[in-house]
Amino acid sequence: MLPPFTNVPMLDFSQSEHANAMEAALRAVRSELGRDWPLIVGGRSFETGEWITSVNPASPDMVVGRVAKARPEDAVRAIEEASRSGSDWRRMDAASRARILLKAATIIRRRAFEFSAWLTYEVSKTWPEAWAEVAEVIDFLEFYAREMMRLDGAHPTTPFPGEENCVYYIPLGVGAVISPWNFPLAIMGGMTVAAAVSGNTVIVKPASQAPVIAAKFMEVLASASMPAGVVNFLPGSGAQIGDILVDHPGIRFVAFTGSKDVGVRIFQRAAVVHPGQMWLKRTILEMGGKDAIVVDETADLDSAVEGIVASAFGYQGQKCSACSRLIVVDEVYDELLERVVGRAAQLRVGDPSDRATNLGAVIDRAAMEKIQSYIALAPSEGRIVLGGGPVPDTGYFVPPTIVADVASGARLAQEEIFGPVLAVVRARDFAHALEIANGTEYGLTGAVYSQDRQRLEIARREFHVGNLYFNRKCTGALVDVQPFGGFNMSGTDSKAGGRDYLQLFMQAKSVSERF
Ligand code: NAP
Repeated sequence: MLPPFTNVPMLDFSQSEHANAMEAALRAVRSELGRDWPLIVGGRSFETGEWITSVNPASPDMVVGRVAKARPEDAVRAIEEASRSGSDWRRMDAASRARILLKAATIIRRRAFEFSAWLTYEVSKTWPEAWAEVAEVIDFLEFYAREMMRLDGAHPTTPFPGEENCVYYIPLGVGAVISPWNFPLAIMGGMTVAAAVSGNTVIVKPASQAPVIAAKFMEVLASASMPAGVVNFLPGSGAQIGDILVDHPGIRFVAFTGSKDVGVRIFQRAAVVHPGQMWLKRTILEMGGKDAIVVDETADLDSAVEGIVASAFGYQGQKCSACSRLIVVDEVYDELLERVVGRAAQLRVGDPSDRATNLGAVIDRAAMEKIQSYIALAPSEGRIVLGGGPVPDTGYFVPPTIVADVASGARLAQEEIFGPVLAVVRARDFAHALEIANGTEYGLTGAVYSQDRQRLEIARREFHVGNLYFNRKCTGALVDVQPFGGFNMSGTDSKAGGRDYLQLFMQAKSVSERF
């Protein structure tokens, strides 16, 4: 019997044993940087003559690795190989498939510091942020393995005289998994193994900014004896091979996490039925956010300040769940603003391989310039109360920035910036704050700080987001504790890490036998 699922705990890096282990891992991984990683299709590894170069955002001269770049013909071949591998894999019993995930979880657990170090170099995560992501991918592996075991076999229906009736959950077929760079291990790995353990075969297209950690994950799957052809590794440019994957008639489903624009494009293209296509494609699409924290005059402001700063600036504000709007009722607006600014001003921006760093670099030059272009809007849309502090010039650094007195309809309060920029909006009262909070096209996460029970009940009903938090930060959802996914333009609300998730990768077959 398997022990029940539990989440991997966070680590306290102030304990010297953990800090020493992380330092050692950073040194060890550093000596492995710069390697070349091939495509893996049908169990065969090969190069294509073109490369994606992954660099350290905090120090772009440091090459983390080069990953072979797929050509259009490689994408088609990957779909054909995945299709060929499907019949053996879906017939393998579910528990055997699940055990491959449990083995992969164990491999990563034993090497958790090493995987954290790769994330620090490749996507500029600080030690706690990197550890949290490694913990999350282990949780996904452990949880989805158990979920598959639970869903396996015949499920009962209402008895009917003279018949045996039951429902089975069976796989869909070949899926494309297209992942973002901000959780390049946990989200990429989570979508991949959910699809695979459900009996599907998969083509994984990782984000171009972070393909090396995905290549490391492929090594883990191979060590865990994932059969050849079940998970095919296809790094490449989304602009070049994305449409080929999504449009191909052999693709049965697309699992995507990323921006709204790309998600909407996939949604539209996947709806087109191409010659030879035998099914309607399923899309599982998780997209952006413009997440708000609401604070009223009854709130515990000490706890609000900590939650706001962690939610807005953790991982440089590059989480889909990050707080990018702070909505405060008039009565406590000035006091809270001053305290949030004071706390955020203490954050240290720098190289994330240094334990003292709170904010690393943003992912690349394009992201840095996009964030800066939003900061340039600030004087016309509000008042900069924090920002422009000194940051290292060795990489793509942006200082924590807070813009006060932003109107709820302004671009800073409506568009996803995906960086360390917090827009603060004044509300007349709690009802007005809630109205502002609901006033974007997104609906991913949100939080309310209040001690007023009636208001919390109103927010429970009316605050329209997929993940709602009271009196705590709006980031850091844990597997099977806070199943994760958003409403409206934040996506299809797939609830990754939840008990309904695997069924998105399956179809139900009802079988009746009359005796
Ligand atoms: P992105 O630009 O949309 O890219 C996501 C993935 O889509 C990448 O692998 C990208 O490949 C690929 N892609 C690009 N164009 C494509 C096309 N035409 N067809 C198919 N695939 C294509 O997003 P990102 O910048 O990596 O990630 C940040 C975004 O993800 C933010 O909006 C964030 O809110 C969102 N996000 C949402 C969640 C959630 O759970 N809701 C979680 C994490 C992140 P290339 O890298 O080669 O361009």
